[in-house]
Amino acid sequence: MNHHTLHDNPLLDLSGLPRFDRLLPEHVQPAIGELLASCRSLIERLASDAVAATWADFAAPLADGFEQLSRAWGIVGHVHSVNDVPAWRDAYNQMLPDVSRFYAEVGQNLQLFAKYRAIAEGSEFATLSPAQQRVVEHEVRDFRLAGAELPAASKPRFQEISEELAQLAARFSENLLDATNAFSELVTDASELAGLPDDVRQAAREAAERDGASGWKFTLHMPSYLPVMQYADSRRLRAAMYRAYATRAAEFGPAELDNTPLIRRLLELRREQAQLLGYQSFAEVSLVPKMADSVAQVLAFLRDLATRARPFAERDVADLRDFANRELGLQTMEAWDVAYVSEKLLQARYAFSEHEVRQYFTEDKVLAGLFSVIETLFEVRLRPDEAPVWHEDVRFFRIEDPAGELVGQFYLDLYARDTKRGGAWMDEAIGRRRIHQQSRASGSDDIQKPVAYLNCNFSRPVGEKDGRPRPATFTHDEVSTLFHETGHGLHHLLTQVDEPGVAGIHGVEWDAVELPSQFMENYCWEWRVLQRMSAHIDSGESLPRALFDKMLAARNFQSGMQTLRQVEFSLFDLLLHSDFDPAGECSVLELLANVRRDVAVLVPPPWHRFPNSFSHIFAGGYAAGYYSYKWAEVLSADCYGAFEEAGNPFDQSTGDRFLREILAVGGSRPAMDSFRAFRGREPQVDALLRHCGMIAA
Ligand SMILES: [Zn+2]
Repeated sequence: MNHHTLHDNPLLDLSGLPRFDRLLPEHVQPAIGELLASCRSLIERLASDAVAATWADFAAPLADGFEQLSRAWGIVGHVHSVNDVPAWRDAYNQMLPDVSRFYAEVGQNLQLFAKYRAIAEGSEFATLSPAQQRVVEHEVRDFRLAGAELPAASKPRFQEISEELAQLAARFSENLLDATNAFSELVTDASELAGLPDDVRQAAREAAERDGASGWKFTLHMPSYLPVMQYADSRRLRAAMYRAYATRAAEFGPAELDNTPLIRRLLELRREQAQLLGYQSFAEVSLVPKMADSVAQVLAFLRDLATRARPFAERDVADLRDFANRELGLQTMEAWDVAYVSEKLLQARYAFSEHEVRQYFTEDKVLAGLFSVIETLFEVRLRPDEAPVWHEDVRFFRIEDPAGELVGQFYLDLYARDTKRGGAWMDEAIGRRRIHQQSRASGSDDIQKPVAYLNCNFSRPVGEKDGRPRPATFTHDEVSTLFHETGHGLHHLLTQVDEPGVAGIHGVEWDAVELPSQFMENYCWEWRVLQRMSAHIDSGESLPRALFDKMLAARNFQSGMQTLRQVEFSLFDLLLHSDFDPAGECSVLELLANVRRDVAVLVPPPWHRFPNSFSHIFAGGYAAGYYSYKWAEVLSADCYGAFEEAGNPFDQSTGDRFLREILAVGGSRPAMDSFRAFRGREPQVDALLRHCGMIAA
């Protein structure tokens, strides 16, 4: 091993922020290879009988060693997500099997398992902090779920499956991104643009120009696709875009981008792995570390929600059909008409469009508003900060406590790019932890401060005014998304737990992890927040009260339909991973059709291939867990209800309690305990139904 090369490798420089200024794809293999090797020798040393099964001798140094690998590999995974160019994709994929194999091996290392179990069962356990106890309990549980107790004969198979699953998940999202990029619609007849807002046309024109074409180029990326579906009068254009979007990564396109065989394989392997562990289905395994107790409990929760939402959803659809027929002359309402008719109905009923609202949410104003909410609620300060970044659009900030002490830092990557994974997400760059004396950096205190990545896919600034670029503007949905991801970020950044395994979002049950993020969305609906968070792109005026009143009235527009949609996805996911036999008679699409027969009020065309782009469950870790969104919404709505009861969204003592009992404790105790500590009782569904307008007056 060339010592000089390794010494210079920015991926191995974990003394501070990631070195995005120096990082190249060729650094990945040597750095990750080196870290894997050093983790392996650490494991070998710690697993030996000479090392006592205690927190200080075993658990702490092991966590320190693993942290190096997970930080470095986290950087690689992050770059793969935000800069998915061939060289980075190759670098990531080259090491992915090795990294997966390493973690699978660790999960099956009986010596490590035995040491954790010895701590859990030993006399030291009672003396550990609650956070440390929880780390140990989670380790023991996760070892069991990772196959540590499997008979020797089944272990190689279990490991093989883990590796293949990781590769399948990565390919699923790559296929989807490639299929999304593969399609574009070049409009050359200006009459086809009727109905589209000016900035959407301009963005489409600029996109065509970048290709050296004349006309207007539309793509399947959200900032281009959504406005077409909502505003384009051309039914032909909407239909063409809809069909392309709905059939991405399916059998109609290039075979190498078809996710259909991957889905079947993923389901088969997950089922096989669950059965090796002694469970009936993957869903049962998935629920072990979650807040929900059983598949039956979640099914009952979802079906109850479906029943309550159904009358509201039926009314939503009837209104839509009626309006399409009477006002727009559409005898039938096709799938590609739904968003368009909805937008028109919304305008007719509430006389405003999302596009109109969007003019008020200029980037700097939105960020200032968001920061002010955080500063008021949690008594911290947010300031711009400096760091090497992976793209010139990325911004960087720091959070300080009232005394000016650093609490954490975060990157903000707001705009959509071809090379960026779709959607919005928070990821961690560095986790909070207590630094042990030997690795203590000079001049700093002994707590490593957390750092987060916040990633969105919003429209970049378009066009110029008076010779200067116009600022980016966001839809209210996008503002809401930003608050959502920031909620995840705060969970990570404001933690007070020093044990990495249960600090921030770590160790938090999947179905409770959306609590802080969905909680934050409520602030996008507070008048005093919106007033300060808006400035019209041309006039600079803040959002007019009259417009806000219409937005409020429209807030629950189609909430019945949307609830049923979420229930449909959740049920499909849960049934797919419990009852469903991938080798059986019923196909994935048939199962989806059955679910829709039960709960859907709008059924897409038969050629729609929704599963082929359902990344959440096939590439994103939400398998048999999509219900978590609704589950956590109950929790977050109920938490916000505490502020409503206090009569002030910024009520200081309620804010302090939320910070202390929910955000700060992270995964150091069960989510149900944290909820009870904050709310003084068990969660109730009423606040959610009330917020969604689904309680009959
Ligand atoms: Zn989220």
